[in-house]
Amino acid sequence: MNMITNHPPTKELQELDAAHHMHPFTAGAELAAKGARVITSAKGVTLTDSEGVELMDAMAGLWCVNIGYGRHELAEAAARQMRELPYYNTFFQTTHVPAVALATKLAELVPGDLNQVFYGCSGSDANDTNIRLVRHYWAAKGKPDKKVIISRKNAYHGSTVAAASLGGMSAMHAQGGLPIPDIHHIDEPNWYAQGGDLSPEEFGLERARQLEQAIAEIGEDRVAAFIAEPIQGAGGVIIPPETYWPEIQRICDAHEILLIADEVICGFGRTGNWFGCDTFNIRPDIMTIAKGLSSGYAPIGGSMVSDEVAEVIANAGDFNHGYTYSAHPVSAAVALENLRILEEEKIVDTVRDVTAPYLAERWTELADHPMIGEAKVCGMVASVAMSPDKANRAPFQAPAGTIGLMCRDRCFENKLVMRHVGDRMIISPPLILTKDDIDTLMDRAYRSIDEAYLLAK
Ligand code: PLP
Repeated sequence: MNMITNHPPTKELQELDAAHHMHPFTAGAELAAKGARVITSAKGVTLTDSEGVELMDAMAGLWCVNIGYGRHELAEAAARQMRELPYYNTFFQTTHVPAVALATKLAELVPGDLNQVFYGCSGSDANDTNIRLVRHYWAAKGKPDKKVIISRKNAYHGSTVAAASLGGMSAMHAQGGLPIPDIHHIDEPNWYAQGGDLSPEEFGLERARQLEQAIAEIGEDRVAAFIAEPIQGAGGVIIPPETYWPEIQRICDAHEILLIADEVICGFGRTGNWFGCDTFNIRPDIMTIAKGLSSGYAPIGGSMVSDEVAEVIANAGDFNHGYTYSAHPVSAAVALENLRILEEEKIVDTVRDVTAPYLAERWTELADHPMIGEAKVCGMVASVAMSPDKANRAPFQAPAGTIGLMCRDRCFENKLVMRHVGDRMIISPPLILTKDDIDTLMDRAYRSIDEAYLLAK
Protein backbone atom coordinates (compact mmCIF):
# COMPACT_ATOMS: atom_id res chain seq x y z
CA MET A 1 0.00 0.00 0.00
CA ASN A 2 1.17 3.53 -0.73
CA MET A 3 1.59 4.82 2.82
CA ILE A 4 1.53 8.42 1.70
CA THR A 5 -1.56 8.78 -0.47
CA ASN A 6 -3.64 5.71 0.40
CA HIS A 7 -2.96 5.55 4.06
CA PRO A 8 -4.25 2.88 6.44
CA PRO A 9 -7.14 3.79 8.76
CA THR A 10 -6.39 6.50 11.32
CA LYS A 11 -6.66 4.12 14.28
CA GLU A 12 -4.10 1.76 12.81
CA LEU A 13 -1.71 4.63 12.07
CA GLN A 14 -2.09 5.92 15.61
CA GLU A 15 -1.36 2.50 17.10
CA LEU A 16 1.72 1.99 14.94
CA ASP A 17 2.83 5.52 15.69
CA ALA A 18 2.48 5.04 19.45
CA ALA A 19 4.30 1.70 19.25
CA HIS A 20 7.28 2.83 17.17
CA HIS A 21 7.63 6.59 17.08
CA MET A 22 9.01 8.66 19.97
CA HIS A 23 7.71 12.20 19.51
CA PRO A 24 9.51 15.42 20.41
CA PHE A 25 8.06 17.43 23.30
CA THR A 26 5.30 14.89 23.90
CA ALA A 27 4.34 12.71 26.87
CA GLY A 28 4.55 9.22 25.35
CA ALA A 29 1.99 7.60 27.64
CA GLU A 30 -0.55 10.33 26.93
CA LEU A 31 0.09 9.99 23.22
CA ALA A 32 -0.52 6.25 23.39
CA ALA A 33 -3.79 6.83 25.22
CA LYS A 34 -5.14 9.56 22.95
CA GLY A 35 -3.49 8.85 19.60
CA ALA A 36 -1.67 11.42 17.51
CA ARG A 37 -3.45 13.69 15.08
CA VAL A 38 -2.38 12.46 11.64
CA ILE A 39 -1.81 15.23 9.08
CA THR A 40 -1.95 13.92 5.53
CA SER A 41 -1.76 16.96 3.25
CA ALA A 42 -1.68 20.74 3.20
CA LYS A 43 -2.26 23.62 0.83
CA GLY A 44 -1.83 27.34 1.39
CA VAL A 45 -2.68 27.89 5.05
CA THR A 46 -4.80 24.75 5.45
CA LEU A 47 -3.89 21.35 6.83
CA THR A 48 -5.97 18.23 6.18
CA ASP A 49 -5.94 15.34 8.63
CA SER A 50 -6.48 11.64 8.02
CA GLU A 51 -10.20 12.03 8.76
CA GLY A 52 -10.55 14.76 6.15
CA VAL A 53 -10.85 17.57 8.71
CA GLU A 54 -9.42 20.88 7.48
CA LEU A 55 -7.60 23.09 9.96
CA MET A 56 -6.25 26.61 9.51
CA ASP A 57 -2.59 26.44 10.48
CA ALA A 58 -1.98 29.64 12.43
CA MET A 59 1.46 28.34 13.48
CA ALA A 60 2.92 27.75 9.98
CA GLY A 61 3.93 24.29 11.18
CA LEU A 62 6.58 25.16 13.76
CA TRP A 63 6.84 28.85 12.78
CA CYS A 64 8.45 27.91 9.51
CA VAL A 65 6.16 27.53 6.49
CA ASN A 66 6.47 31.19 5.56
CA ILE A 67 5.39 30.83 1.90
CA GLY A 68 2.55 28.46 2.79
CA TYR A 69 2.07 24.82 1.84
CA GLY A 70 1.88 23.23 -1.58
CA ARG A 71 4.35 25.26 -3.63
CA HIS A 72 5.34 22.79 -6.31
CA GLU A 73 8.20 24.98 -7.46
CA LEU A 74 10.12 23.86 -4.38
CA ALA A 75 9.41 20.19 -5.11
CA GLU A 76 10.67 20.76 -8.64
CA ALA A 77 13.80 22.54 -7.41
CA ALA A 78 14.50 19.59 -5.10
CA ALA A 79 13.91 17.03 -7.87
CA ARG A 80 16.12 18.96 -10.30
CA GLN A 81 18.91 19.14 -7.77
CA MET A 82 18.57 15.48 -6.85
CA ARG A 83 18.98 14.54 -10.49
CA GLU A 84 21.95 16.86 -11.00
CA LEU A 85 23.91 16.42 -7.76
CA PRO A 86 21.97 14.86 -4.88
CA TYR A 87 24.82 15.16 -2.44
CA TYR A 88 28.28 16.39 -2.06
CA ASN A 89 29.99 17.89 0.95
CA THR A 90 31.73 21.21 1.46
CA PHE A 91 34.56 19.93 3.65
CA PHE A 92 38.24 20.08 2.64
CA GLN A 93 38.14 22.87 0.05
CA THR A 94 35.16 21.68 -1.96
CA THR A 95 31.97 23.49 -2.88
CA HIS A 96 29.00 23.18 -5.23
CA VAL A 97 26.72 25.52 -7.13
CA PRO A 98 23.68 25.66 -4.76
CA ALA A 99 25.98 26.33 -1.77
CA VAL A 100 27.58 29.28 -3.57
CA ALA A 101 24.35 30.65 -4.97
CA LEU A 102 22.55 30.52 -1.63
CA ALA A 103 25.48 32.03 0.30
CA THR A 104 25.62 34.89 -2.21
CA LYS A 105 21.88 35.49 -1.95
CA LEU A 106 21.98 35.42 1.84
CA ALA A 107 24.82 37.94 1.95
CA GLU A 108 22.63 40.23 -0.17
CA LEU A 109 19.50 39.83 1.97
CA VAL A 110 20.91 39.85 5.49
CA PRO A 111 21.54 43.33 6.93
CA GLY A 112 24.93 44.79 7.82
CA ASP A 113 28.19 43.06 7.02
CA LEU A 114 27.12 39.49 7.79
CA ASN A 115 28.55 38.34 4.51
CA GLN A 116 29.52 34.74 5.24
CA VAL A 117 27.38 31.75 6.11
CA PHE A 118 28.35 28.58 7.94
CA TYR A 119 25.71 26.05 6.93
CA GLY A 120 23.98 23.55 9.16
CA CYS A 121 20.76 21.58 9.08
CA SER A 122 18.68 23.28 11.77
CA GLY A 123 18.49 26.14 14.21
CA SER A 124 19.82 23.96 17.02
CA ASP A 125 23.00 22.89 15.29
CA ALA A 126 23.54 26.44 14.02
CA ASN A 127 23.52 27.64 17.62
CA ASP A 128 26.00 24.89 18.50
CA THR A 129 28.13 26.28 15.69
CA ASN A 130 27.80 29.74 17.21
CA ILE A 131 29.26 28.54 20.51
CA ARG A 132 32.23 27.05 18.66
CA LEU A 133 32.59 30.17 16.51
CA VAL A 134 32.62 32.76 19.28
CA ARG A 135 34.98 30.80 21.53
CA HIS A 136 37.33 30.06 18.66
CA TYR A 137 37.19 33.71 17.61
CA TRP A 138 38.27 35.01 21.02
CA ALA A 139 40.92 32.32 21.40
CA ALA A 140 42.30 33.29 18.00
CA LYS A 141 42.47 36.89 19.23
CA GLY A 142 44.55 35.74 22.19
CA LYS A 143 41.68 35.73 24.70
CA PRO A 144 40.94 32.04 25.33
CA ASP A 145 39.24 32.81 28.65
CA LYS A 146 36.57 34.87 26.93
CA LYS A 147 34.12 31.98 26.57
CA VAL A 148 31.07 32.63 28.74
CA ILE A 149 27.88 33.17 26.74
CA ILE A 150 25.08 35.16 28.31
CA SER A 151 21.55 34.24 27.35
CA ARG A 152 18.13 34.72 28.91
CA LYS A 153 15.73 32.73 31.02
CA ASN A 154 12.83 31.37 28.98
CA ALA A 155 14.78 31.75 25.72
CA TYR A 156 14.60 28.94 23.17
CA HIS A 157 17.67 28.27 21.05
CA GLY A 158 17.13 24.62 20.18
CA SER A 159 17.24 21.13 21.55
CA THR A 160 20.79 19.79 21.25
CA VAL A 161 22.74 19.70 24.51
CA ALA A 162 24.52 22.97 23.73
CA ALA A 163 21.55 24.80 22.18
CA ALA A 164 19.22 23.78 25.01
CA SER A 165 21.89 25.02 27.43
CA LEU A 166 21.90 28.36 25.65
CA GLY A 167 18.13 28.35 25.95
CA GLY A 168 16.64 29.24 29.27
CA MET A 169 13.86 26.68 29.50
CA SER A 170 13.91 25.20 33.01
CA ALA A 171 11.90 22.13 31.94
CA MET A 172 14.60 21.33 29.39
CA HIS A 173 17.45 21.96 31.81
CA ALA A 174 15.79 19.59 34.27
CA GLN A 175 16.36 16.66 31.92
CA GLY A 176 19.87 15.53 31.06
CA GLY A 177 21.98 17.68 33.35
CA LEU A 178 21.86 21.00 31.52
CA PRO A 179 23.13 23.64 31.12
CA ILE A 180 26.72 22.93 30.10
CA PRO A 181 29.36 25.11 31.83
CA ASP A 182 29.98 28.74 30.96
CA ILE A 183 26.45 29.65 29.96
CA HIS A 184 24.81 32.34 32.11
CA HIS A 185 21.15 33.38 32.01
CA ILE A 186 19.72 36.79 32.82
CA ASP A 187 16.02 37.65 33.10
CA GLU A 188 13.78 38.05 30.07
CA PRO A 189 12.07 41.33 29.04
CA ASN A 190 8.57 40.02 29.78
CA TRP A 191 6.86 43.16 31.03
CA TYR A 192 3.37 41.63 31.27
CA ALA A 193 4.39 38.89 33.71
CA GLN A 194 7.31 40.49 35.50
CA GLY A 195 7.13 44.26 35.02
CA GLY A 196 5.31 45.03 38.28
CA ASP A 197 4.70 48.76 38.65
CA LEU A 198 7.38 49.81 36.17
CA SER A 199 6.34 51.23 32.82
CA PRO A 200 7.28 48.98 29.87
CA GLU A 201 10.02 51.49 28.94
CA GLU A 202 11.53 51.51 32.44
CA PHE A 203 11.30 47.75 32.63
CA GLY A 204 12.97 47.30 29.21
CA LEU A 205 15.94 49.35 30.41
CA GLU A 206 16.09 47.51 33.72
CA ARG A 207 16.15 44.12 32.00
CA ALA A 208 18.74 45.19 29.42
CA ARG A 209 20.97 46.54 32.18
CA GLN A 210 21.04 43.09 33.75
CA LEU A 211 23.37 42.26 30.88
CA GLU A 212 25.77 44.99 32.00
CA GLN A 213 25.58 43.75 35.60
CA ALA A 214 26.26 40.17 34.52
CA ILE A 215 29.26 41.30 32.47
CA ALA A 216 30.59 43.21 35.49
CA GLU A 217 30.12 40.19 37.76
CA ILE A 218 31.59 37.60 35.40
CA GLY A 219 34.29 39.92 34.08
CA GLU A 220 34.47 41.49 30.63
CA ASP A 221 37.56 39.39 29.90
CA ARG A 222 35.50 36.21 30.35
CA VAL A 223 32.32 37.05 28.41
CA ALA A 224 32.37 36.04 24.76
CA ALA A 225 28.86 36.81 23.57
CA PHE A 226 25.25 37.59 24.30
CA ILE A 227 22.57 35.64 22.42
CA ALA A 228 18.90 36.52 22.11
CA GLU A 229 15.91 36.19 19.84
CA PRO A 230 14.70 39.61 18.63
CA ILE A 231 11.26 38.45 19.81
CA GLN A 232 11.21 35.45 22.16
CA GLY A 233 9.11 32.97 20.23
CA ALA A 234 8.71 29.67 22.05
CA GLY A 235 8.89 31.61 25.32
CA GLY A 236 5.43 32.97 24.48
CA VAL A 237 5.95 35.61 21.79
CA ILE A 238 7.43 38.14 24.18
CA ILE A 239 7.83 41.37 22.22
CA PRO A 240 10.34 43.45 24.19
CA PRO A 241 9.67 47.04 25.27
CA GLU A 242 11.04 49.63 22.82
CA THR A 243 13.88 50.57 25.16
CA TYR A 244 15.27 47.04 25.38
CA TRP A 245 17.21 46.43 22.16
CA PRO A 246 18.93 49.84 21.88
CA GLU A 247 20.28 49.38 25.41
CA ILE A 248 21.42 45.81 24.69
CA GLN A 249 23.20 47.04 21.57
CA ARG A 250 24.91 49.82 23.54
CA ILE A 251 26.09 47.39 26.20
CA CYS A 252 27.49 44.86 23.71
CA ASP A 253 29.32 47.63 21.85
CA ALA A 254 30.69 49.18 25.03
CA HIS A 255 32.04 45.93 26.46
CA GLU A 256 33.40 44.14 23.40
CA ILE A 257 30.81 41.38 23.60
CA LEU A 258 29.74 39.65 20.39
CA LEU A 259 26.02 39.91 19.77
CA ILE A 260 24.26 36.84 18.38
CA ALA A 261 20.74 37.43 17.07
CA ASP A 262 18.82 34.18 16.87
CA GLU A 263 16.56 34.86 13.89
CA VAL A 264 15.34 31.29 13.50
CA ILE A 265 11.75 32.48 13.96
CA CYS A 266 12.03 36.20 13.19
CA GLY A 267 14.00 35.81 9.97
CA PHE A 268 12.63 35.79 6.42
CA GLY A 269 9.72 38.16 6.86
CA ARG A 270 8.10 37.10 10.10
CA THR A 271 8.26 40.54 11.74
CA GLY A 272 7.23 42.45 8.60
CA ASN A 273 10.82 43.04 7.49
CA TRP A 274 13.28 40.53 6.15
CA PHE A 275 14.85 40.13 9.58
CA GLY A 276 13.98 40.94 13.18
CA CYS A 277 17.25 42.88 13.22
CA ASP A 278 15.74 45.26 10.64
CA THR A 279 12.62 45.69 12.75
CA PHE A 280 14.49 46.33 16.02
CA ASN A 281 17.57 48.00 14.53
CA ILE A 282 19.96 45.40 15.91
CA ARG A 283 23.51 45.10 14.54
CA PRO A 284 24.60 41.55 15.36
CA ASP A 285 27.99 39.96 14.78
CA ILE A 286 26.37 36.59 14.14
CA MET A 287 22.84 35.69 13.14
CA THR A 288 21.22 32.25 13.46
CA ILE A 289 18.93 31.31 10.57
CA ALA A 290 16.78 28.25 9.79
CA LYS A 291 13.00 27.62 9.49
CA GLY A 292 11.78 30.32 7.05
CA LEU A 293 15.02 29.98 5.07
CA SER A 294 13.43 27.02 3.27
CA SER A 295 9.90 27.59 4.59
CA GLY A 296 10.40 24.21 6.23
CA TYR A 297 10.32 22.35 2.90
CA ALA A 298 13.84 20.98 3.50
CA PRO A 299 16.02 20.99 6.61
CA ILE A 300 18.62 23.75 6.50
CA GLY A 301 20.01 26.33 8.91
CA GLY A 302 23.12 28.33 9.40
CA SER A 303 25.09 31.09 11.03
CA MET A 304 25.56 34.38 9.21
CA VAL A 305 28.90 35.79 10.28
CA SER A 306 30.27 39.35 10.11
CA ASP A 307 33.29 40.19 7.97
CA GLU A 308 35.42 40.80 11.04
CA VAL A 309 34.55 37.53 12.79
CA ALA A 310 34.88 35.59 9.52
CA GLU A 311 38.30 37.07 8.86
CA VAL A 312 39.64 36.17 12.28
CA ILE A 313 38.32 32.61 11.92
CA ALA A 314 39.72 32.34 8.39
CA ASN A 315 43.19 33.33 9.58
CA ALA A 316 43.17 30.90 12.50
CA GLY A 317 43.76 27.71 10.53
CA ASP A 318 41.25 24.89 10.14
CA PHE A 319 37.91 25.47 11.82
CA ASN A 320 37.43 21.94 13.14
CA HIS A 321 33.69 21.86 12.85
CA GLY A 322 31.05 20.81 10.31
CA TYR A 323 28.17 18.50 9.52
CA THR A 324 27.87 15.88 6.79
CA TYR A 325 24.87 17.80 5.57
CA SER A 326 26.30 21.33 5.88
CA ALA A 327 25.19 23.07 2.67
CA HIS A 328 23.20 20.05 1.54
CA PRO A 329 22.67 20.75 -2.16
CA VAL A 330 19.01 19.75 -2.21
CA SER A 331 18.18 21.87 0.83
CA ALA A 332 20.18 24.77 -0.58
CA ALA A 333 18.32 24.55 -3.92
CA VAL A 334 14.99 24.47 -2.09
CA ALA A 335 15.98 27.44 0.07
CA LEU A 336 17.00 29.44 -3.01
CA GLU A 337 13.65 28.76 -4.65
CA ASN A 338 11.88 29.75 -1.44
CA LEU A 339 13.80 33.05 -1.31
CA ARG A 340 12.99 33.65 -4.97
CA ILE A 341 9.27 33.27 -4.21
CA LEU A 342 9.45 35.45 -1.10
CA GLU A 343 11.19 38.15 -3.10
CA GLU A 344 9.46 37.98 -6.49
CA GLU A 345 5.99 37.69 -5.03
CA LYS A 346 6.78 40.56 -2.66
CA ILE A 347 5.53 38.49 0.26
CA VAL A 348 7.53 40.41 2.87
CA ASP A 349 6.39 43.77 1.42
CA THR A 350 2.76 42.63 1.49
CA VAL A 351 3.10 41.56 5.11
CA ARG A 352 4.64 44.91 6.05
CA ASP A 353 2.25 47.13 4.11
CA VAL A 354 -1.03 45.22 4.00
CA THR A 355 -1.61 42.13 6.07
CA ALA A 356 0.43 42.83 9.22
CA PRO A 357 -1.32 46.20 9.81
CA TYR A 358 -4.66 44.44 9.34
CA LEU A 359 -3.68 41.61 11.69
CA ALA A 360 -2.56 44.18 14.25
CA GLU A 361 -5.91 45.96 14.02
CA ARG A 362 -7.90 42.76 14.41
CA TRP A 363 -5.64 41.02 16.94
CA THR A 364 -5.58 43.93 19.38
CA GLU A 365 -9.40 43.82 19.46
CA LEU A 366 -8.93 40.65 21.52
CA ALA A 367 -7.79 42.84 24.41
CA ASP A 368 -11.48 43.80 24.90
CA HIS A 369 -12.28 40.23 25.91
CA PRO A 370 -12.69 39.91 29.71
CA MET A 371 -10.04 37.16 29.90
CA ILE A 372 -7.36 38.86 27.76
CA GLY A 373 -4.84 40.94 29.69
CA GLU A 374 -2.51 41.75 26.82
CA ALA A 375 -2.70 41.39 23.02
CA LYS A 376 0.64 41.96 21.26
CA VAL A 377 1.56 41.69 17.62
CA CYS A 378 4.59 42.35 15.43
CA GLY A 379 4.35 41.54 11.74
CA MET A 380 2.92 38.04 11.49
CA VAL A 381 3.60 36.87 15.02
CA ALA A 382 1.27 37.58 17.90
CA SER A 383 0.27 36.59 21.40
CA VAL A 384 -2.39 37.15 24.01
CA ALA A 385 -1.96 36.72 27.74
CA MET A 386 -5.02 35.26 29.43
CA SER A 387 -5.84 36.35 32.95
CA PRO A 388 -8.73 36.01 35.42
CA ASP A 389 -8.05 39.57 36.61
CA LYS A 390 -6.71 41.57 33.71
CA ALA A 391 -6.52 44.89 35.56
CA ASN A 392 -3.81 43.37 37.79
CA ARG A 393 -2.24 41.11 35.15
CA ALA A 394 -2.90 38.28 37.63
CA PRO A 395 -2.21 34.61 36.84
CA PHE A 396 -4.91 31.94 37.15
CA GLN A 397 -5.20 29.93 40.34
CA ALA A 398 -5.10 26.71 38.33
CA PRO A 399 -1.57 25.47 37.57
CA ALA A 400 0.03 27.55 34.80
CA GLY A 401 -0.97 26.28 31.39
CA THR A 402 -4.30 24.70 32.42
CA ILE A 403 -6.44 27.36 30.75
CA GLY A 404 -3.98 27.64 27.87
CA LEU A 405 -4.32 23.93 27.14
CA MET A 406 -8.07 24.17 27.40
CA CYS A 407 -8.06 27.03 24.91
CA ARG A 408 -5.70 25.16 22.57
CA ASP A 409 -8.12 22.21 22.58
CA ARG A 410 -11.05 24.52 21.81
CA CYS A 411 -9.02 25.89 18.89
CA PHE A 412 -8.67 22.39 17.42
CA GLU A 413 -12.43 21.88 17.77
CA ASN A 414 -12.89 25.19 15.94
CA LYS A 415 -10.49 24.12 13.19
CA LEU A 416 -7.65 26.40 14.13
CA VAL A 417 -4.09 25.45 15.05
CA MET A 418 -2.98 27.93 17.68
CA ARG A 419 -0.37 27.10 20.32
CA HIS A 420 -0.30 27.82 24.03
CA VAL A 421 2.72 28.69 26.15
CA GLY A 422 1.50 28.53 29.71
CA ASP A 423 -1.59 30.70 29.60
CA ARG A 424 -0.48 32.74 26.61
CA MET A 425 -1.96 31.88 23.21
CA ILE A 426 0.32 32.48 20.27
CA ILE A 427 0.17 32.55 16.48
CA SER A 428 2.80 32.64 13.75
CA PRO A 429 0.87 31.95 10.55
CA PRO A 430 2.17 31.55 7.00
CA LEU A 431 3.08 34.96 5.61
CA ILE A 432 0.68 34.49 2.69
CA LEU A 433 -2.34 34.87 4.97
CA THR A 434 -4.87 37.17 3.26
CA LYS A 435 -7.17 39.66 4.95
CA ASP A 436 -10.02 37.16 4.53
CA ASP A 437 -7.89 34.48 6.15
CA ILE A 438 -7.21 36.88 9.02
CA ASP A 439 -10.95 37.37 9.49
CA THR A 440 -11.44 33.59 9.62
CA LEU A 441 -8.54 33.23 12.04
CA MET A 442 -9.92 35.93 14.30
CA ASP A 443 -13.44 34.44 14.34
CA ARG A 444 -12.07 31.06 15.34
CA ALA A 445 -9.60 32.47 17.85
CA TYR A 446 -12.23 34.63 19.53
CA ARG A 447 -14.70 31.77 19.70
CA SER A 448 -12.07 29.45 21.20
CA ILE A 449 -10.95 31.98 23.82
CA ASP A 450 -14.56 32.67 24.73
CA GLU A 451 -15.35 28.97 25.10
CA ALA A 452 -12.26 28.51 27.28
CA TYR A 453 -13.40 31.50 29.34
CA LEU A 454 -16.80 29.89 29.99
CA LEU A 455 -15.12 26.59 30.90
CA ALA A 456 -12.64 28.34 33.22
CA LYS A 457 -15.37 30.15 35.14
N1 PLP B 1 16.21 29.15 17.78
C1 PLP B 1 14.96 29.55 17.87
C2 PLP B 1 14.68 30.99 18.17
C3 PLP B 1 13.90 28.67 17.68
O1 PLP B 1 12.63 29.09 17.80
C4 PLP B 1 14.20 27.33 17.35
C5 PLP B 1 13.12 26.37 17.12
O2 PLP B 1 11.96 26.61 17.38
C6 PLP B 1 15.53 26.95 17.29
C7 PLP B 1 16.52 27.88 17.50
C8 PLP B 1 15.91 25.54 17.00
O3 PLP B 1 15.67 25.26 15.68
P1 PLP B 1 15.53 23.74 15.19
O4 PLP B 1 14.28 23.21 15.79
O5 PLP B 1 15.51 23.88 13.70
O6 PLP B 1 16.72 23.02 15.66
